[in-house]
Amino acid sequence: MAKPKVAFYWCASCGGCEETVVDLAEDILKVVEAVDIVLWPVALDYKLKDVEAWRPGDVAVAFINGAVRLSEQAEWVRLLREKCSMVVAFGSCAHLGGIPGLANCTTREEILANKYHRAVTLDNPNNTEPQVHATVNGYDLDLPVFWKDVKPLDQVIDVDYYLPGCPPPARLVAEAVGAILKGELPPKGSVLAPEKSLCESCPLNETKPETIAIKAFKRVATSTPNPEECFLVQGYICLGPATRTGCGERCIRGNMPCRGCFGPTPGALDMGTKMLSALGSLGEANTEEAAHALADTMVDPLGTLYRFSLPASLLKRRVP
Ligand code: SF4
Ligand code: SF4
Repeated sequence: MAKPKVAFYWCASCGGCEETVVDLAEDILKVVEAVDIVLWPVALDYKLKDVEAWRPGDVAVAFINGAVRLSEQAEWVRLLREKCSMVVAFGSCAHLGGIPGLANCTTREEILANKYHRAVTLDNPNNTEPQVHATVNGYDLDLPVFWKDVKPLDQVIDVDYYLPGCPPPARLVAEAVGAILKGELPPKGSVLAPEKSLCESCPLNETKPETIAIKAFKRVATSTPNPEECFLVQGYICLGPATRTGCGERCIRGNMPCRGCFGPTPGALDMGTKMLSALGSLGEANTEEAAHALADTMVDPLGTLYRFSLPASLLKRRVP
């Protein structure tokens, strides 16, 4: 019997999600035994025309990581959607926009100005900027269009499932591949991770008292947390109350507060506002002035509360 065909593709990402596939270690051999990998640009050279030659439905599932910002990325993911029976948004950037999505804090014009006109290391006497079309020495050259903002995958194509995490843990990937092969999947649109918050599985949860009174927010950049006490109790912003579990609490076990890469808890409309409302009830401030003083101790609220989720949030981007 023919093995199901599987495709991996990457858009705006760091390559960490591809590392996870390699991290499957001996499990990758089981995956390779069970499926045919027909596209994996990080490992093997494929061209667009190879994928154009597939018939719709030829490939069982495409795991696509990375956010979408270039017209070339959109062209690839639309083609994969047409040819693959199932699409899985693989990792935080495809799921929510991820770290590349923080570019939505600024504009396309500002990014180009910084890169091509202001950087101190720049040597660009003619103030050249990349153009979509150019003719050089008689040759026509094309570059992809650099969109005005970063989008998660489901703002460009229909997505069947989401595998969260920066990167998704190998165990979760192996479970998802197993569930796909057995046809034991939850309803379309589901996030393939447990339906509860990180706090509920956190080993430090039992150190959290009934009430917390944060006097000032601390940062791991300037002080070291006690690894045996809930970070929020100590005043470090930990996104555990607003984040879905399933990562194995890997940052917590490394003495780092959660930054929220698994995305919002089930049912939460907006991760940042959910966390902000949790923090609002934990701060010790009885007057408006005290509330402002406490808020002022939070460095980079947008980057802290929406580190992985800005393009998928209600805000989506900063409006100039
Ligand atoms: S806030 Fe963070 S450290 Fe505290 S219980 Fe939740 S996940 Fe654990
Ligand atoms: S603790 Fe938070 S930031 Fe760290 S891997 Fe888990 S969900 Fe991601």
